[in-house]
Amino acid sequence: MRVLEARDRIGGRIWTDGDGVDLGAHWIHGTEGNPLTELVEQLEIPFSYVGGDSSYTGGFDSLILFGPDRQIAPAMAKSHTLELADKVLHELERRAEIARRRDDPDRPLVAVVDEILAEAAYGYADEQAVRYHLNVILREDVAEDPGGLSFKYWEDGYRVYGYGDSVLHLGYQAVVEALARDLTIELETVVQQIDTSAGAVRVTTSRGVYEADKVLVTVPLGVLKANEIDFSPPLPEVKRHAIERLGFGTLNKIALHYDERFWPADQYVFGYLCRETDSYPTVVISMWKSHGKPILVLLLGASLGRAMETWTDEKVSDYATTVVRDIFGRKALRPNIFPEPHGHRTRTHTAPTPASASTLPHATSTPSPNR
Ligand SMILES: Cc1cc2nc3c(=O)[nH]c(=O)nc-3n(C[C@H](O)[C@H](O)[C@H](O)COP(=O)(O)OP(=O)(O)OC[C@H]3O[C@@H](n4cnc5c(N)ncnc54)[C@H](O)[C@@H]3O)c2cc1C
Repeated sequence: MRVLEARDRIGGRIWTDGDGVDLGAHWIHGTEGNPLTELVEQLEIPFSYVGGDSSYTGGFDSLILFGPDRQIAPAMAKSHTLELADKVLHELERRAEIARRRDDPDRPLVAVVDEILAEAAYGYADEQAVRYHLNVILREDVAEDPGGLSFKYWEDGYRVYGYGDSVLHLGYQAVVEALARDLTIELETVVQQIDTSAGAVRVTTSRGVYEADKVLVTVPLGVLKANEIDFSPPLPEVKRHAIERLGFGTLNKIALHYDERFWPADQYVFGYLCRETDSYPTVVISMWKSHGKPILVLLLGASLGRAMETWTDEKVSDYATTVVRDIFGRKALRPNIFPEPHGHRTRTHTAPTPASASTLPHATSTPSPNR
């Protein structure tokens, strides 16, 4: 078997940098029953259970939430935010169930969220709390804003394995490296055409033509949508139609590297509800707890993540400093974020080529909703 890879590295949206930061996939989402858990066990790749982002969707208990006063929200106030959000989510599901039963035309999820919030007439703080939880679930997990999601079906087929999340001590790249052992991989080889019209498959690439009995195409949806590969004969109508209709979201990260840790050693995730939640990340993840490194990671999904891609390095640094100072006070230093290699932010490239692979570290868009 031969693998043809456009970039100058393997892994695609899995990419662990030299400091052990996963710029793309990071968690085994749901540890119990997840085939990835079985795989890493078989490959003897070390990992630990961290609760991960399930600690703010499922086990919200272990999350420290910083509120608008930049203080840790007391337990009661924290559960109040969750109760409000749960109410809205139940109401959304109730209305969606009716809409599906009556076969009503679909609408963007945001229309119904706004309707429910208008009816509830919450005060500013309560509405922010609901929007915060929606941003956790939609913007940072599904990787799309409610404006880009279906009201009737946004949750359709979304299943999570049990027992919270785990992280790999050596980064997700360890899985890719282990799986790549004994494989023949051609890097910087961009597939341009796949011709199945004459028995054997003929694959034309930027580096010549390959022939094979069979070919397995695993390029991202964005590459298929952009028609980067010419299929001859064309893909069946049903597949072309699905490629056209399906969408995908965006998830970006900002990794903040420091010379030393100035935050509590034992806390893995800090919830951030200090400012307008639609414009700021919902969580700050500490790599001290999981990897013993003085690095904090911010997740920015959907429109917020896409906006960040357009910011200057200076603006990213100012923004990140605001977030960490809100939580940790003035002792939170300006991160060694730029110039590289001390800091990273990811960017989206839907049609990776060797050229784009050599620009800023990046991860491609996240398929939504099944990251
Ligand atoms: C920031 C971020 C965080 C994420 N976090 C998690 C997480 O915590 N847990 C999780 O489970 N998932 C996570 N995901 C999602 C996960 O990374 C992806 O679902 C997964 O890596 C996709 O794998 P893939 O092989 O389908 O596609 P990719 O990893 O995108 O691989 C496709 C490969 O095809 C190559 N390619 C494209 N076009 C061509 C061409 N014409 N010729 C040759 N090669 C080509 C690309 O270079 C790439 O290497 C995250 C994604 C992102 C972006």
